[in-house]
Amino acid sequence: MVHDPLPYGHQSVDDDDILAVVDVLRSDWLTTGPAVERFERSLSGWTGAPTVAVTSGTAALHTAYAAAGVGKGSEVVTSPMTFVATAATASMLGADVVFADVEPDTANLDVGAAEAAATSRAAAITGVDYAGHPVEADALRKLAHARDALFVQDAAHSVGSRWKGRPVGSLADLTTFSFYPTKNFTTAEGGAVASTNPALLDRARQFRNHGLVRDPSAQRMGDEGGWHQEVHEVGLNYRLPDVLCALGVTQLRKLDRFKQRRDQIVAAYNSAFASLHEVATPPCREGADPMWHLYPLRVLDGRRRQLYDALRATRILVQVHYLPVYWHPAYADLGYRRGMCPNAEEFYAQQLSLPLFPAMGDGDVDRVIDAVSRFFQPG
Ligand SMILES: *Cc1c(COP(=O)(O)O)cnc(C)c1O
Repeated sequence: MVHDPLPYGHQSVDDDDILAVVDVLRSDWLTTGPAVERFERSLSGWTGAPTVAVTSGTAALHTAYAAAGVGKGSEVVTSPMTFVATAATASMLGADVVFADVEPDTANLDVGAAEAAATSRAAAITGVDYAGHPVEADALRKLAHARDALFVQDAAHSVGSRWKGRPVGSLADLTTFSFYPTKNFTTAEGGAVASTNPALLDRARQFRNHGLVRDPSAQRMGDEGGWHQEVHEVGLNYRLPDVLCALGVTQLRKLDRFKQRRDQIVAAYNSAFASLHEVATPPCREGADPMWHLYPLRVLDGRRRQLYDALRATRILVQVHYLPVYWHPAYADLGYRRGMCPNAEEFYAQQLSLPLFPAMGDGDVDRVIDAVSRFFQPG
């Protein structure tokens, strides 16, 4: 029997999303207009902090690091179990990236490992909410502040998650989000930076718009005329257009529903795989209320690659998250050596992301469960 491809992640875009985008296309403002503020306001309701929209999760990390003063001579301590952008944006600013190992079960940055790795040159300690499960935010924030550094949370996976009752976005000095199609909701490309610190958020807002200062009372150049704006610290154009912000507004209305469906699918997988000795299902710490972005199954019997190939052959398009960042040749060339973070390396050897997205039907979920179960218990 030939099945449709079942990807590991997929967007849910409905007619209301499409109509909202078309409305903006017919309006005067394709970018820098009212939909940006509408989106940022709705998003703040989820993040629990003022939030600035940018063009991608990568732009959000770049912006957050720039606002944090990350640059030449400073260090960013982070997890290798993440997408390369978490480190690459720090490298682009001239900082040295220091990789600290992860907890073996959650694959989140280990507080003790981060503490051992962070020197007085640390400008930021960046936790990544792997698969949507929040990091140990209180301990990481305390550690960062003890080192005179900022706690940055890469929440590309975890918009909609909560930690000890508080939303992701309100826990760190700077939190970054991604709205790429496979993420928890989408604006096609897009991202955001949240901060409870108004000065940091102002710096982020300025960096997103070339560093331009428009407020006459903040300008340094004197009275040039009504048209005048000036740059104090250079920035980039990371503005998310109104066309995409409108999509974000309608998507956010569904985020509760998306979270519920993701929860149901994760619960079905967890209960189906609990009796399989060859695998481990993702743990959930006390105090964590994840919006699960990935379903990271761990294959304990050494057959991860075989399971990947077997599922792909039936068009279940599983994926692996992630190659430890310092294994990428770009970082290996800088002298990072394998073996540095053994927990992350073992996790990479075992991990497989099963399909998880709100539009999956119960039949899709059963298809995945059957295929995985049959692989380990043939006949
Ligand atoms: C997706 C992702 C990013 C980058 O986001 P983009 O929107 O694709 O630029 C950064 N960090 C993590 C952990 C991600 O999953």
